[in-house]
Amino acid sequence: MKTIGLIGGMSWQSTMHYYQIINEYIEQELGGFHSAKILMYSVDFDKIERNQREGNWEEVARLISFAAQSLERGGADFILICTNTIHKVYQTIQESVSIPILHIADATMQALSCKKVALLGTKYTMTEDFYKSRLEESGFEVLIPKKADMEYINTVIFEELCKGIVKKESAQGFYRIIEDLKKEGAQGVILGCTEIGMLIEKRQACLPLYDTTYIHAITGAKMALE
Ligand code: GLU
Repeated sequence: MKTIGLIGGMSWQSTMHYYQIINEYIEQELGGFHSAKILMYSVDFDKIERNQREGNWEEVARLISFAAQSLERGGADFILICTNTIHKVYQTIQESVSIPILHIADATMQALSCKKVALLGTKYTMTEDFYKSRLEESGFEVLIPKKADMEYINTVIFEELCKGIVKKESAQGFYRIIEDLKKEGAQGVILGCTEIGMLIEKRQACLPLYDTTYIHAITGAKMALE
């Protein structure tokens, strides 16, 4: 079994789900007392979040590259960065190590079973090009919410979900946004932020949901057994 390197803490609320999903998969596949071989570098998110907000992406890339290099030195065979947003600086981080980093959007694309897909995530992920263009280059059409809805989603992510606060009324807000995106032609929704899966449920949404946390973690677990 390969050793998985996780760069977590962004936020820790979602990283704990990676740990659980990966271990459940390995246990189910191998049986007995088997569990995943994982090295984790969990960052102090306060510093990362501040640098993101101030547009200081070079510093973000430097901090996460340091984490990736630590995992490589520790013996990880490959790495998952447990957040979508940080993939804005994916290229720089990948170039700082010689082991592969499994891109969260690439894993997600493999799981998509529709071509016209809505993307929910932080304002960085929804409005900037790094994530959408990767999907578009592979033939997907990406829809994003209206400006006011994007602000709402971003606020719920940082003010509630990253702090472990899960509110019913926020979930209702997300379901309403998904209904609007369906009216615009979306056939499915990428939960392109690793905390959104804590808030909304498949059976209550009017479109199929693709949870990047689950997809990324499962893809990583399968890679560990290859
Ligand atoms: N976990 C979130 C994501 O998947 C947001 C936290 C961050 O800004 O890294 O994008």
